Amino acid sequence: MTIIADLHIHSKHSRGCSNDLGIDNLEKYARMKGVGLLGTGDFTHPEWIKELKAKLSDDGTGIFRTANGFPFMLQTEISLIYSSNGKGRRVHNVVLAPNLEVVEQITDELKKRGRVDYDGRPIFKIPCPEFVEMLRGISNKIEVIPAHIWTPHFSVMGEYNQFKNLDECFEDQVKHVHAVETGLSSDPPMNWRCSFLDKFNLVSFSDLHSYWPWRIGREATIFDCGLTYEAIIKAIRTGQGLAGTMEVDPAYGKYHYDGHRNCNVCLKPAESVKLGKKCPKCGRPLVIGVEHRVEQLADRPIGYVPPNAKKFYTLMPLSELLQHVFGKGIATKGIWEEYNKLMKLGSEIEVLLNKSEKELLNVTTEKMAKAILKNREGKIKVKPGFDGVYGVPLFSEEEREYPGEQKMLGTGPEPKEKPAKDGKTGKTKKNKEQKGLAEF
Ligand SMILES: [Zn+2]
Ligand SMILES: [Zn+2]
Repeated sequence: MTIIADLHIHSKHSRGCSNDLGIDNLEKYARMKGVGLLGTGDFTHPEWIKELKAKLSDDGTGIFRTANGFPFMLQTEISLIYSSNGKGRRVHNVVLAPNLEVVEQITDELKKRGRVDYDGRPIFKIPCPEFVEMLRGISNKIEVIPAHIWTPHFSVMGEYNQFKNLDECFEDQVKHVHAVETGLSSDPPMNWRCSFLDKFNLVSFSDLHSYWPWRIGREATIFDCGLTYEAIIKAIRTGQGLAGTMEVDPAYGKYHYDGHRNCNVCLKPAESVKLGKKCPKCGRPLVIGVEHRVEQLADRPIGYVPPNAKKFYTLMPLSELLQHVFGKGIATKGIWEEYNKLMKLGSEIEVLLNKSEKELLNVTTEKMAKAILKNREGKIKVKPGFDGVYGVPLFSEEEREYPGEQKMLGTGPEPKEKPAKDGKTGKTKKNKEQKGLAEF
């Protein structure tokens, strides 16, 4: 069976963000999107695991179902901040677990080394090789997947760590790493250019944060296998049963190009190299994006396709298309009204991929229908994202429902994945995020 899976999400307990989003709403939005399997997120968090135990039950195959039968897999993301070879390192890893006993053992092991109750994505001072070894010691069914591998601040291949490949980071434990998450700012063709990644399968997930539940599945992995923990893990490990991925345009990712958010400076890798990787406005080092890192480490030309390449789709999320065609804030009432009209045809993924022009015209405007078809053909240009700012899909005046210049509408208050000044945590200022939240 074909399963569209999003196995990297977060709960309401990540980053101290409080709202009433729980399992019920995750299920609701996953169904709306057309996602058929979700990660639980945050399984080490004491409050969240309580909710998971109350709301989900193991169907006997390591898949945890809601009362309505919607399937979840036990999943979390752990932030590792440590030193190796005299250099500071910061790596995020997604962890999948087969059952609640294993989750309890993982949590107990981590509690010996720190706290798990302050954030759904806790931080530990454990080197990556030791982390993998520790988890494999608990169960060889646990899977560790390096998260959003190219982003600048918290990823294995990102600018901060300066690792040249995964072997350098995971050392002898690299043999237990089978897949890598490409992240929003890179797509399979970018990763195919690096031969050191050939031995890993590519997966894509949303890395959804709780107060944007409708972001589920903006990136996802397509499996063609049975819906059991074992079958999904086998597909991740061997590629058999892993049919491909659903991606956004990598330029939409918030770390695609180099730049400075506060200086409003966004640069292509070549331009930033010319400037010595310093900001032309403030003179400080630029945040080096994903395109730049791939360019530095690639040993193959643009356009290289490996013989075993998996299929992938490039699709902008529907909310972003509506936002820019209609020129309104992404989570406003007007945009939701337009969104819900389209949902009469099926899930978001069905609308984006399969509904005909005729069907679309029954529920939406001509310009919006054209935008959906153009998206399907991969022809929408995107102004690249940088330093935590999302990229923006571009539409000409004729393609929009409003006249004049395109409004450069942002995608709202997402948490910024940037270390605090003290370099100790990845937390951002709470008041800023909450202020943004109030707008929705
Ligand atoms: Zn992360
Ligand atoms: Zn600057």
